[in-house]
Amino acid sequence: MTTQAQVRTYEVITYGCQMNVHDSERISGLLDEAGYQPAPEGDQADIVVFNTCAVRENADNRLYGNLGHLAPVKAGRPGMQIAVGGCMAQKDRDTVVRKAPWVDVVFGTHNIGSLPALLERARVEQASQVEIEEALVRFPSTLPTRRESPYSAWVSISVGCNNTCTFCIVPQLRGKETDRRPGDILAEIRALVSEGVQEVTLLGQNVNTYGVEFGDRQAFSKLLRACGDIEGLQRVRFTSPHPSSFTDDVIAAMAETPNVMPSLHMPLQSGSDTVLRAMRRSYRSTKFLGILDRVRAAMPHAAITTDIIVGFPGETEEDFQATLDVVRESRFAAAFTFQYSIRPGTPAGEMTNQVPKAVVQERYERLIELVGELAWEENKALVGSTVEVMFADGEGRKDGATHRVSGRARDNRLVHVTIPEGMETPRPGDLADVEITYAAPHYLNADGAVTNVRRTAGGDAWERWHEPDTSPASVGLGMPLRRPEPMPPSTSGCATR
Ligand code: SF4
Repeated sequence: MTTQAQVRTYEVITYGCQMNVHDSERISGLLDEAGYQPAPEGDQADIVVFNTCAVRENADNRLYGNLGHLAPVKAGRPGMQIAVGGCMAQKDRDTVVRKAPWVDVVFGTHNIGSLPALLERARVEQASQVEIEEALVRFPSTLPTRRESPYSAWVSISVGCNNTCTFCIVPQLRGKETDRRPGDILAEIRALVSEGVQEVTLLGQNVNTYGVEFGDRQAFSKLLRACGDIEGLQRVRFTSPHPSSFTDDVIAAMAETPNVMPSLHMPLQSGSDTVLRAMRRSYRSTKFLGILDRVRAAMPHAAITTDIIVGFPGETEEDFQATLDVVRESRFAAAFTFQYSIRPGTPAGEMTNQVPKAVVQERYERLIELVGELAWEENKALVGSTVEVMFADGEGRKDGATHRVSGRARDNRLVHVTIPEGMETPRPGDLADVEITYAAPHYLNADGAVTNVRRTAGGDAWERWHEPDTSPASVGLGMPLRRPEPMPPSTSGCATR
């Protein structure tokens, strides 16, 4: 019989975008189901899983560096296993075990579900197992999961991408778009809500093409409207949309479905049509701005955020000025800005007209300054208004020192709230209306009235999660077992992370 003392522990280390964050929840769920337990904080786990990213500069150096650090640890700890999954594993395959022969398992983005079997096979055969599939074996959402938050959840609607942006490695690594059936998605959301989830973020590399596989061009707007019928679901978000396939039925569905939040994260990447063409992004700046106009006409208070790449090969000062012009006109609430860097395996990586690093850096700094100024102006316009906040765990790093509690407004802006003396502190997942008293470029403070505090099922779920766990080790289905990690900001799942 297996005793508590013999239960093997695991740790999942995640790099990259929300897709990976969500995949890691599945990896943890699978390991729970296989009888492993999360390693207590600070303890060395028996199984270490790296869920890797291939789009960041130096991703491979970082991975092999980390693997190098673990080699002596493993040598001194019989039975320890190391697994590498995610996009780098999909890309590098056998190279991983050639460079780091002490790795036990290499698995790809399409066969997460095989991990427990591969770990077991590696243990029995005492040999590394490399298994990479070219196509999705099983939609990841059908796998067990260990969620990161009791009140907020990611829900995959599609994986893969049919576009061919020249800077992006996703199509090679995640394959063609595979859509999940709407009924399965809605059933998952209903199940999550019954466990206390208040907020879901629908995830896909390009949510606007959702339905391409089963031939329904309006499938995404229908899905948003169907989310509106789920009782108890307070907030629906999505990431990422793609400007080329963004249609007006989605804007109407957003505006007319009360629980779909007035926030839109839509990657611009560049404001220059020449650069967009070189990136093989099929929209032009006028189309992008037209979408924003229609979104704002339907939802005047929508907060719009974006991703921008600076210094794409061939970008001239004139191209960069075009980006600054579009940024000015777009009035983004925030922009995630990236300096272009060569990603091996992408067409842009082969382009000969790379922009010198110093030029990229200088443009990048100008862009950040402009983005910050505009975001601050947009935030200042909110001072004096009342916004609904969903309190969250881990959003306010200085909350302890400032005696504030933090959360997100409906438009996803970060708000730090002072709870008036004598008022019970709301729990993560609870809701309240708060008065904005101060604006900074990247956050708002609410030190005025706090009204209409609502204790929610999400707050209850958070409280249950924090009750001391006296139950024996169990499988991670149903209620999550571990303290939530802070939600990463809602940004693009699309390639630039
Ligand atoms: S950048 Fe986004 S839309 Fe373009 S290929 Fe990559 S995942 Fe697809």
